[in-house]
Amino acid sequence: MTTTLITGANKGLGFETARRLVGAGHTVYVASRDAGRGRRAAERLGARAVPLDVTDDASVAAAARAVEAGGGLDVLVNNAGIQVEMVDGQEVAGAAELTAEMMRRTFETNVFGMVRVLHAFLPLLRRSGAPVVVNVSSGLASLSRMSDPGSPGHPYPGVAYPASKTAVNMITVQYAKAFPRMRINAVEPGFTRTDLNGNSGRQTVERGAEIIVRMAQVGPDGPTGGYFDAEGPLAW
Ligand code: NAP
Repeated sequence: MTTTLITGANKGLGFETARRLVGAGHTVYVASRDAGRGRRAAERLGARAVPLDVTDDASVAAAARAVEAGGGLDVLVNNAGIQVEMVDGQEVAGAAELTAEMMRRTFETNVFGMVRVLHAFLPLLRRSGAPVVVNVSSGLASLSRMSDPGSPGHPYPGVAYPASKTAVNMITVQYAKAFPRMRINAVEPGFTRTDLNGNSGRQTVERGAEIIVRMAQVGPDGPTGGYFDAEGPLAW
């Protein structure tokens, strides 16, 4: 039996990933910063609910204790994320408007939050027979793409969100080297209709969750330290 925890699983790509992994037979923890939203989502899915705010040490530690008491963890999906430079699908902040505070808020969730969760759950993952981590990144993380005028993400003017996801990619590479027994990959879901972008995304959550679900189910002989979308490996 595989036990999986997904951060930010009360809606969007995290919820769809939870739905699919419950369907694949995983025992799924829907982790949500709002206990009520998490409980309602878990009830709809036949999953377990655990409160978890990635920006809060005590919340993350309590979640790790609850999952340990529940029997441990095999798969961690670091999905929770924010995009503060987009409001209602409108790009509001390019380099000219970027403040250190916007950068700090973005990194608090997307980067420091991910490390906080990894640090708390690593002891549980190390006890698993087949530990897997999926870090939800973005195509906007790719330095190759963002510096290529022909790439679809190139016109995006925001700084904080892409920079935070580039950090996610480096975290993925370094953790994968540190824990060769684990399968640790970064994924790009593609531009997906969710609250993150005011539902301006071009594809459904079913399509967006594809690569997250696939990498959550990767076996011990699967890739690690990579960066993938649904079509295959991406340039960093
Ligand atoms: P979403 O519908 O807005 O969902 C984001 C989830 O993260 C929500 O459950 C949200 O909880 C949660 N979250 C935010 N801050 C949190 C915190 N401090 N602690 C715990 N949970 C927190 O957006 P989404 O599109 O599904 O995003 C999921 C991931 O995919 C993100 O990492 C995003 O960067 C990435 N991504 C999305 C796209 C896209 O086009 N949508 C493309 C590439 C990558 P609340 O409900 O409480 O706010």
